[in-house]
Amino acid sequence: MDRVYNFSPGPSMLALPVLEKAQKDLVAYGDTGMSVMEMSHRSKMYTDIYDKTVADLRELMNIPEDYEVLFLQGGATQQFSAIPLNLMVTGKADYLDTGNFAHLAAEEAKRYGEVSIPASSREDNYTYIPDLEKASYTPDADYLHFTQNNTIYGTRFVELPKTAAPLVCDASSMILSEPMDVSKYGVIYAGAQKNIGPSGLCVLIVRRDLLGKASAVCPKLLNWEVQAKAGSMYNTPNTWGIYLAGLTFEWLKELGGVEVIERANIAKAALLYDFLDESKLFKPTAQKKYRSRMNVTFVTGDEEKDAAFVKAAAKEGLVNLKGHRTVGGMRASIYNAMPEEGVRKLVAFMKKFEVENG
Ligand SMILES: *Cc1c(COP(=O)(O)O)cnc(C)c1O
Repeated sequence: MDRVYNFSPGPSMLALPVLEKAQKDLVAYGDTGMSVMEMSHRSKMYTDIYDKTVADLRELMNIPEDYEVLFLQGGATQQFSAIPLNLMVTGKADYLDTGNFAHLAAEEAKRYGEVSIPASSREDNYTYIPDLEKASYTPDADYLHFTQNNTIYGTRFVELPKTAAPLVCDASSMILSEPMDVSKYGVIYAGAQKNIGPSGLCVLIVRRDLLGKASAVCPKLLNWEVQAKAGSMYNTPNTWGIYLAGLTFEWLKELGGVEVIERANIAKAALLYDFLDESKLFKPTAQKKYRSRMNVTFVTGDEEKDAAFVKAAAKEGLVNLKGHRTVGGMRASIYNAMPEEGVRKLVAFMKKFEVENG
């Protein structure tokens, strides 16, 4: 069967060369005589895979030496739940409220301490990133949490928040899509199922001086210092997920790295937004300045037409275009693995649909 263009927000498309390599190695990896799924995580054959995966991510993101790179079980939700347990010392933290996941992360932190919201776009259904010049940061907060790309609403931060507290960033839907100056962050974490690999795996990059602050009630498994000491292997890690992440990193390196994929991502997003700005039927929902390059949200303004479009597109092999239930309309998630050809086909189909249904 032919593969479709899958615009799912996550789990989402993986690069075809990654899937083909995994398929080739599925039953027996190299000359080991066994699948990666069957290897002991403590064996040399597996720790070689793990070490290379960490080294490749370090290279791709230019991660400074004083940062730990961890590959943890579970998703981004598990990690944002663990943030206050690892970082709240004074009991105060700032959370920018720019989307559903940002909001959930703040709600979770409220269980442990005093959470302030320096800026929010919740009242306007998160269609933009609030003006950070007007944000009122807490001077002695332990950290500031923000979501750099808002997957559901299709918005992205165009500059980093300026506060004295360490920046803790949910980068789930934008990691590796554009260069990030890691030294400006305290913590970057990302669920793998958008730009890295399968679900159930979370990459966490943490500055070493932020380790060792965990509260006494923090479960050991969620304690970043414990995991750093154990090389992400305090218990059995998601060995297969890490291996697939490693294949994605190799694929990205072969393409030329993050700067190269960023150019491709800008071009893909421009194809869609340029059409949306001219279309008489489809309208983009995020404010122009804050438009995401990864998740493009749009509506026709007529729910029946939206549904008809999503259905008709699927028949053409353009699948999973339905928007999140809180926003409605459509969302095209065009992560690193979505080829430009997929976006061209989508735009061509939207034009055709507009002529026939406008
Ligand atoms: C998908 C996503 C999450 C949730 O990830 P899980 O792996 O389901 O926990 C959190 N934050 C952002 C920005 C996301 O895009």
